[in-house]
Amino acid sequence: MATTPARTGPIRSCHVVAIPYPGRGHVNPMMNLCKLLVNSHPHLLITVVVTEEWLGFIGADEKPPEIRFATIPNVLPSELDRAADMPSFVGATQTKMGEPFELLLDRLDKPVDFIIADTFLNWAVELGNRRNIPVASLWPMPASVFSIFYHFDLLRHNGHYPFDLAERGDERVDYIPGIESIRLADIPSIAHMKDQCLLRLVLRIFPNVPKAQYLLFTSIYELESRVIEALKQEFTFPMYTFGPAIPYANLETATSFSTTNNQNDHYFEWLNSQPPSSVLYVALGSFLSVSSAQMDEIALGLCESGVKFLWVARGEAKRLQERCGENGIVVTWCEQLKVLSHPSIGGFWTHCGWNSTMEAIFCGVPLIAFPLVMDQTTIRKHVVEDWKIGWDAKKGVGPGELLKGREICELVKRFMDLESLERKEVTKTAKEFREKTVAAVSNGGSSKTNLTCFLSDILSYI
Ligand code: UDP
Repeated sequence: MATTPARTGPIRSCHVVAIPYPGRGHVNPMMNLCKLLVNSHPHLLITVVVTEEWLGFIGADEKPPEIRFATIPNVLPSELDRAADMPSFVGATQTKMGEPFELLLDRLDKPVDFIIADTFLNWAVELGNRRNIPVASLWPMPASVFSIFYHFDLLRHNGHYPFDLAERGDERVDYIPGIESIRLADIPSIAHMKDQCLLRLVLRIFPNVPKAQYLLFTSIYELESRVIEALKQEFTFPMYTFGPAIPYANLETATSFSTTNNQNDHYFEWLNSQPPSSVLYVALGSFLSVSSAQMDEIALGLCESGVKFLWVARGEAKRLQERCGENGIVVTWCEQLKVLSHPSIGGFWTHCGWNSTMEAIFCGVPLIAFPLVMDQTTIRKHVVEDWKIGWDAKKGVGPGELLKGREICELVKRFMDLESLERKEVTKTAKEFREKTVAAVSNGGSSKTNLTCFLSDILSYI
């Protein structure tokens, strides 16, 4: 626990306002950071500002009393619209959230000492500067992806943007600070898209970053030390890695995988009955979808492989459960972190979302990388090439092509063959990464030390 600075007189709570971007992969790490902070200090009050829709999603989740919610109106009528029209959604988060947020600050019962805002909410830094409130910008993706976007002009100047993915995807660039070498195909996918609208919106957030007082990464220093050191040369403010931004404290105290009366929990009962490391967990994130045709190929491949699986297929769960019969369990949603830490899980077929990847690393589960869009293409590179904690499902699959059931079947069978040499190798590396991660969040570890420093920075403002 961090030591409280010596004081005279009564102790005033420090009031932090946190605002995540309205998406699961952003809300989860922000909530987890807030929990880590209040668990480390008794006199911190955090107001987490979410859209009304997000209060509906997370309002009933367990949280310490020092964290409370406040709401602003939704940016679009429904989160479902987010995946259907990403540019409109991202654009709306940049233009429609700032004003209600500022009005809310004036209505809060306590003055605001500090703001933590998702980097994608670029207006928050200006708002903080205007009101003289320090702002920490939270980047919930790999630091490498931050460096690529922050230095995007280098790609333009070197003639690597725009580019045709099919023709030049394998060309490598070696001038992005902190990144030794990366294929153009591994740059976040919005840079390969014909419509540049989303890229323009994302690049728009970066000029504000240097005006923040802190930059926080949900990554772990040991995983990305080279890029973190390169970024430290460029920014004058403190930069802290504190990952993984997952509720590991709760996991450590969970002693069993008991089920509740909740019907949705039936999968834990099933997992409890499976042999150790025998089940493949399949999930492609919280909001993106692949085509029904690709889902059918995955179903075919999984069923033919004979490997047991637990598959989160969201809206398609009922249809796919019928197709898959007794071979596996298909659910609409699950408690992913708890699933990944279950002893029956032996692998994770993932879309390479950053949170999913960090959760798998923390649980020591090897990955089958099946990236869809955005930073997932870059994360695939880290998982497969740099860290060697997973295999590439899309090797040899061209842009827009389906990965066929036959290939999926072969891949899954090989991957879940725990006795093969190649599988033993990836298991060993995944366990080593788990150890690094556990060390980072333990006393004296990089993430724990950074959190303590960040906390004393926050407290220095009251
Ligand atoms: N998640 C979950 N249950 C599911 C699917 C996803 O709890 O059935 C959580 C997962 O644990 C992770 C987040 O949703 O924390 C997804 O974030 P990620 O960055 O991996 O992907 P995104 O959904 O943002 O693409």
